[in-house]
Amino acid sequence: MKQNDKIVIIGGGLSGLTLAYLLSKKNISATILEASTRLGGRIETIKGKNKTPLVLGATWFSTIHSNLISLLDDLELKKFPQFSKGKSLFQTKSFEPPQEFYTPETETPSYRIAGGTQHLIDTISEKLDSEQIKLKRKVISVKETDHQLIVESSNGEKFMADTVILCLPPQLVGSHMTFSPELPKPILTILPTIQTWMAGSIKFVLEYSEPFWRQNGYSGMLYSHSGIISEMYDHTNFEANKFGFTGFLNGGASNYTKAYRKELVLRQLIELFGNNATTPLAYYDKIWSDEFILDDNQPIHQPHQNNGHQVLQESYMNGKLLFSGTESNPEFPGYMEGAILSAKRICKKILA
Ligand SMILES: Cc1cc2nc3c(=O)[nH]c(=O)nc-3n(C[C@H](O)[C@H](O)[C@H](O)COP(=O)(O)OP(=O)(O)OC[C@H]3O[C@@H](n4cnc5c(N)ncnc54)[C@H](O)[C@@H]3O)c2cc1C
Repeated sequence: MKQNDKIVIIGGGLSGLTLAYLLSKKNISATILEASTRLGGRIETIKGKNKTPLVLGATWFSTIHSNLISLLDDLELKKFPQFSKGKSLFQTKSFEPPQEFYTPETETPSYRIAGGTQHLIDTISEKLDSEQIKLKRKVISVKETDHQLIVESSNGEKFMADTVILCLPPQLVGSHMTFSPELPKPILTILPTIQTWMAGSIKFVLEYSEPFWRQNGYSGMLYSHSGIISEMYDHTNFEANKFGFTGFLNGGASNYTKAYRKELVLRQLIELFGNNATTPLAYYDKIWSDEFILDDNQPIHQPHQNNGHQVLQESYMNGKLLFSGTESNPEFPGYMEGAILSAKRICKKILA
């Protein structure tokens, strides 16, 4: 790469931001074009009434995710283990009482990021020049001219680039963007079949003023085959002074209204933990099926299908167009670790 070459990163999720951050450490500036009104993509944390960090997207990681842990160390962010002490519950059938079980202490627990996962996104973006980040720029096309690429967003704005890195779910590259000249057939065929991790899932968060479950000897962990909640975990903050739960709802719940989902969630919790569960300070949920993550009309048969595929390791448009993003990475695709690894891989390529 030549000095003053223009780099455009499409997508302001963890992979796009990490790439811009790694490049900035080498004094290379890149422009990030992000379609939505916020950074973070599949990472999103909101605050409850009591200011509890409530994590709607990516939440957990473990010691095998060493690149994520190094990034947290580099940014001086803290991690803390997922609370799991006490009785956990497993509901098999609606007409049977839940089974109780204890999770053994482990040396490799699941960790969470202090302040919520969004804290990672905010910290990286603070390290970047705000001029570098352009929100509400949904990229619709990339055209190759003699020496450069022209990236066009849906508002008609055009950005010239020497190198463009696609940091978004590859499936969306296939369905929402056009390329001129067209990308080769092998990659056009694969793009629609690359599964986007967690697309379509429903995550919920609840905030309570007291950790009544802990006080009664429960871990807050629940697995259920019978209720609207399929998985749930304690969501107390790092400082252990703000309380709540987070977890996933059954896929079918997307057909209900939010009010009805909340009602069913509370009904299940009251049945398990008693009337203390009746009045949360806050309930939110998010169906991850918006245009920035899911293209529903595509042939997906299995989780992580075609993630890390060889066609995503190649460069296109005479070496000027590259794929990053978690689904592009052969290792840990779909996870935060994969997003960071993909950024590192592309950073190395750009610097080579
Ligand atoms: C509910 C849920 C729970 C999860 N739980 C975990 C977990 O516990 N642990 C874990 O490791 N991972 C988890 N993940 C996965 C994790 O969130 C992702 O691996 C990671 O955030 C992906 O980062 P990314 O930058 O590759 O992609 P994304 O986060 O998808 O970022 C892509 C960005 O591109 C933008 N974009 C899309 N189209 C365009 C366009 N045309 N032009 C410009 N920008 C565009 C999007 O708005 C988005 O900001 C979870 C995900 C979800 C949804």
